[in-house]
Amino acid sequence: MTTAPPRIRARWLRAPALTRIFAAIRAAGGEARVAGGAVRNAIMGLPGTEVDLATTLSPEAVTRACESAGLSVHPTGIDHGTVTVVSDHTPYEVTTLRHDIETDGRRARVKFTDDWQADAQRRDFTMNALYCDEAGKIYDFTDGYRDSLRKRIIFVGTPSQRIREDYLRILRFFRFHARFGSGTPDAAGLAACVRQRRQLAKLSAERIRQEMFKLLAAPGAVPTLKLMARLGILRELLPHTEEWRVIGRLPPDAVLRLAALAADPAAMKERWRLSNSDARRLADLAALVPPTPGLRPREQRIVLYQIGAAAWRDLVQLAWARSRASLDDPTWRRLLKLPDRWQAPSLPVTGKDLIAAGLAPGPGMGEALRRLEDWWVASDFKPDRDALMARLTT
Ligand code: ATP
Ligand code: MG
Repeated sequence: MTTAPPRIRARWLRAPALTRIFAAIRAAGGEARVAGGAVRNAIMGLPGTEVDLATTLSPEAVTRACESAGLSVHPTGIDHGTVTVVSDHTPYEVTTLRHDIETDGRRARVKFTDDWQADAQRRDFTMNALYCDEAGKIYDFTDGYRDSLRKRIIFVGTPSQRIREDYLRILRFFRFHARFGSGTPDAAGLAACVRQRRQLAKLSAERIRQEMFKLLAAPGAVPTLKLMARLGILRELLPHTEEWRVIGRLPPDAVLRLAALAADPAAMKERWRLSNSDARRLADLAALVPPTPGLRPREQRIVLYQIGAAAWRDLVQLAWARSRASLDDPTWRRLLKLPDRWQAPSLPVTGKDLIAAGLAPGPGMGEALRRLEDWWVASDFKPDRDALMARLTT
């Protein structure tokens, strides 16, 4: 260890909810430390992420200890050692120290241990292998403290071997670089990622999507994706465009950025097993005609009524990024904000009104209602119920 790290003094460490878990585990004769992201972020002066705990107690012992302290415990991933303890309505993942006994590039068989160093050694990067105890004392077996301060993503151990254990680490290397790194990535890690890129095909679509969505939403996404494209890594994941200027002008939203990055957006639902709502957003972004500031206000309202506020915001942001306009252009900003100024009304007549007016239910009535709606929309949503009913009988 080169520098003696100072104590962690983050607010989350003093939360009574967390203190209660530490106390319960201590009372049962075990030891617990905060592990991974929360410690890393505190050292880097970044806002906290979830506070995850590592412990010497078995999952069953954690469950007994926390339940007898009056906390509720859920066996979220009990086979690989994780339970979720809910304390003051806050969920904490508590994971028993582990080391890998068998890996196949996708998943690991783990064995529980009470050896903190073995647990650190199976983690991916030095900045993710840090622990702190209840008093904020840092435990650093891999020089992760130094690498956090230098903003370097360094594999724990030999990069090619760590990648062979789990090929997802290739994507995690780039994801953490995009989020926390600075300058060019570590040369040894990068070379190993490039050499093993073909193995990415062995990963499940879900794991790829999860990592790539986090990468796409990271602050340094564009230079990192560009690098991945140049090195032939990105094409192992999706057929992609080179629209870097556009992607860089989009807000940090994975689906929006994917709409510009994917050469075949329609194929992504299958390819990355997107959720229905993400797939729908992506399909709308690819298929609907984007509103532009050239539209008259009346036409804007018609389009907004037809596509809804969410698709409106998505489409305007993508069209704005693709345009030559500056990102603080007031006319585009005004267009984007239309859903805040104007909420589409709903058609003031329903099928019931039509039946009351003597129309027979059935396809004819649906047709009449649609014609009425078209007229109402084309009249800028002005006709009220009476005007609509009057039109019906003419
Ligand atoms: P975030 O703030 O993005 O959640 P995180 O560091 O908590 O960052 P997670 O993906 O939630 O990242 O993983 C939690 C911890 O588990 C990591 O910090 C790392 O120590 C370990 N870890 C997760 N995935 C792997 C993996 N594939 N290989 C090795 N260690 C991993
Ligand atoms: Mg996390």
